[in-house]
Amino acid sequence: MSKGILIVVSGFSGAGKGTITKELVKRYENYCLSVSATSRKPREGEVEGRDYFYKTREEFESMIENDELLEHAQYVGNYYGTPKKYVEDCINAGRDVILEIEVQGALQIKKKVPEAVTIFMTTPTIAILKQRLIGRGTETLEVIEQRLKRAKEEAEYMTQYDYIIVNDDLEECVTGLNDLLASLHSRVSNNEEFISSIKKQLQEI
Ligand code: 5GP
Repeated sequence: MSKGILIVVSGFSGAGKGTITKELVKRYENYCLSVSATSRKPREGEVEGRDYFYKTREEFESMIENDELLEHAQYVGNYYGTPKKYVEDCINAGRDVILEIEVQGALQIKKKVPEAVTIFMTTPTIAILKQRLIGRGTETLEVIEQRLKRAKEEAEYMTQYDYIIVNDDLEECVTGLNDLLASLHSRVSNNEEFISSIKKQLQEI
């Protein structure tokens, strides 16, 4: 059985990463969505273990010390990180794992796991991004300003990603992303075991 692909999805806050990745996992069976740990407080409607594992700063720091995280970063004053075990279990079971993380974490993953696929998601324009952040109504204006400032910094890293996805229409975005990810299974680097098996069979004739 071939291993699953590690997929990193980043993008500006408000670009729709969460909606798109959740929809992808709901519709197609082969994906696992990694649940991150964070020191941020839950937003209304968020659920422990589904949206995040909510930790105190001290708990988060002990996860770092115990090497339980594949990557971690600070974002607008809070810690965020990817628990290692779930990701490794999914990959070894041949499933594709999606990490929805910010740029510092994405760069750490690319260094550790060069075969990971990195995708940057954006709205078609920044005016639309601002509108979505305000319309979401989950953050104060001050936090929205911080997130837009952060978007400016994040844009500097866009060229380091493998793919850009423009989230204009949810439906197109979900099917487009699934097609892209499915095609990656045809990469030679994802089929090394299969290639070895074919060669072995040829030696036996
Ligand atoms: P939010 O507070 O809006 O849920 O997330 C803020 C940012 O943190 C988003 O860009 C999100 O992708 C990122 N994020 C969520 N989980 C992780 C994680 O495990 N690691 C890193 N590096 N970033 C994360």
